[in-house]
Amino acid sequence: MAPKTPSKTLSTDILILGSGGAGLFAALHAHKANPQLSVTVAVKGLLGKCGCTRMVQGGYNVALAREDSIERHFMDTIEGGKWLPDQDLAWKLVVLAVERIKELENELGCFFDRNPDGTVHQKAFAGQTFDRTVHKGDLTGIEIINRLAEQVWARRIHRLEEHRAVEIIKTRAGDAVAGVLFIDMRTGEYVFVRAKAVLLATGGGPTMYKYHTPSGDKTCDGLAMALRAGLSLRDMEMVQFHPTGLLAGTHTRMTGTVLEEGLRGAGGYLLNGDKERFMPGYDPLAERATRDFVSRAMFSEIRKGKTTPNGGVYIAMSHLGPERVRKEFKGMVERCADCGFDLARGLVEVVPTAHYMMGGVEFTADCSTALPGLFVAGEDSGGVHGANRLGGNGVANSTVFGAVAGDTMAQWVLGKDFVEEDKIAVDAAVSRCEAPFKGRRGENLETLREALYDVMWEKVGIIRDATGLNQATEELQRIDAALDAASLPDMSRSFNLTWHDWLNLKSLVAVSQAITAAAIARRDSRGAHFRSDFPEAGPLEQSAFTSIDANLNVQMKPVRFTRVKPGQSLLKNVA
Ligand SMILES: Cc1cc2nc3c(=O)[nH]c(=O)nc-3n(C[C@H](O)[C@H](O)[C@H](O)COP(=O)(O)OP(=O)(O)OC[C@H]3O[C@@H](n4cnc5c(N)ncnc54)[C@H](O)[C@@H]3O)c2cc1C
Repeated sequence: MAPKTPSKTLSTDILILGSGGAGLFAALHAHKANPQLSVTVAVKGLLGKCGCTRMVQGGYNVALAREDSIERHFMDTIEGGKWLPDQDLAWKLVVLAVERIKELENELGCFFDRNPDGTVHQKAFAGQTFDRTVHKGDLTGIEIINRLAEQVWARRIHRLEEHRAVEIIKTRAGDAVAGVLFIDMRTGEYVFVRAKAVLLATGGGPTMYKYHTPSGDKTCDGLAMALRAGLSLRDMEMVQFHPTGLLAGTHTRMTGTVLEEGLRGAGGYLLNGDKERFMPGYDPLAERATRDFVSRAMFSEIRKGKTTPNGGVYIAMSHLGPERVRKEFKGMVERCADCGFDLARGLVEVVPTAHYMMGGVEFTADCSTALPGLFVAGEDSGGVHGANRLGGNGVANSTVFGAVAGDTMAQWVLGKDFVEEDKIAVDAAVSRCEAPFKGRRGENLETLREALYDVMWEKVGIIRDATGLNQATEELQRIDAALDAASLPDMSRSFNLTWHDWLNLKSLVAVSQAITAAAIARRDSRGAHFRSDFPEAGPLEQSAFTSIDANLNVQMKPVRFTRVKPGQSLLKNVA
């Protein structure tokens, strides 16, 4: 008999959804602020083994060098974001990144690469005016997440692993968060966790595109839950494509995985299928231009038919010296070798790959949202990066705001009691999750996934226009309806991965619809969003961001230039 109501109810002062950089930092900071609080990290995978922070390759942007400054880091972030970032959020990012990197090394046990004089080595990343990316070789995320996980394991912080959050549940009055409904993936049972404060840190993840980099556990669940909870999302049209996704054929899941930005930063060349270097013809910064420019140039070359055997372009590093490439990019050389490519001496096929969502839940600098008791940090949040995220600002964002959220939540819960959840909302969420157990056998989920991949890549990808976006809107409705009618071949609940795939696809389609609606509403081209029918950026002084709700209504809201206006710079007073 199928379980229809939560078979277990737990309580915790602070509930954190996700165990990436944002979730783990939030847990550590909340615990440090008040060790008496009960803090629980609930995660779809295994703590320390899932999410994208672990996958960070290149590194962490922070203004440490004497010749650099937080003002310079800030201006790079604003200009890279095409003047759409929320300036208070971006300022907080650059200021607290300095604190956080010191905490990572001095308190949490990370070792980053160093210069011969003992200072922290900082490498070049595209789109930045200073080499400020701190790293551990080219596999920085493993160092960060392993140390964070060890610290969490060593403390009295509770864990709910393989617990998938499916709904944010409010009070009966709908005026605050009461807790979160989960599926325990191991048994298939529903679990309700009552909490005074909830952090959404499920890390977004544009895995609805044919080529994508994020980990498979990321399917925009947090953003879909936030929409259903009545929160607005901003900048959803801004999906970043990383230029150098490995292209190794359709038979391997290595296709789409990322070859790090530092390859272009170090001087790597991009060559089309005719083995001609093309970037200098598109942008004076050539391969070191920001990701949006490079991805668009690659896509244009691909559309001209100048492709490699698998339909992409090449990256070439050998002119820098094979020994140097092997030494500086050991992980990348090995990854390419696994797929039959020699990065140090030969050419490697690459394609732009969906990497990061700049968009997310609207929030303020203390990580609170419009729903009392719900906080957000990391890739689930929107507004820090505007139209384009600089490489190296992603992990800085998740760790900086994760820690802020932990501090804020520890304060927020003081003196608060648990509140009763809206039981009707719990039942409705259970029914929603149960739907595929009751559907008639319709289209195969694999077919629907391929349809989603294709429509998002072709019509809502690197180059967009009204005709394609409107076609995408219809196709997404069709896919959603087909999902609603689909049924599962396997009725068991324990580790029923097809069931979870169905839930994944439901979240991805809901968020794809938000991306598409926001892309239709933005009638200009900024950063990651390029409309061939509206190719101009529009006046920067009138910059506005998209804000979308669950009914897919989009408002254009003016950007507040709280620190610097277009045409100005904070650098003029800085040595
Ligand atoms: C290959 C790759 C390389 C990258 N390299 C860099 C880099 O060099 N520099 C940089 O700054 N950024 C980089 N990034 C981006 C960076 O990884 C992210 O910006 C950042 O790590 C996101 O952190 P997060 O904590 O928000 O999310 P994540 O670290 O992705 O964690 C999300 C967590 O939420 C969990 N989760 C998801 N759904 C649910 C659910 N329904 N219920 C419960 N838990 C859930 C996941 O299992 C996971 O634990 C890279 C990303 C990728 C994919």
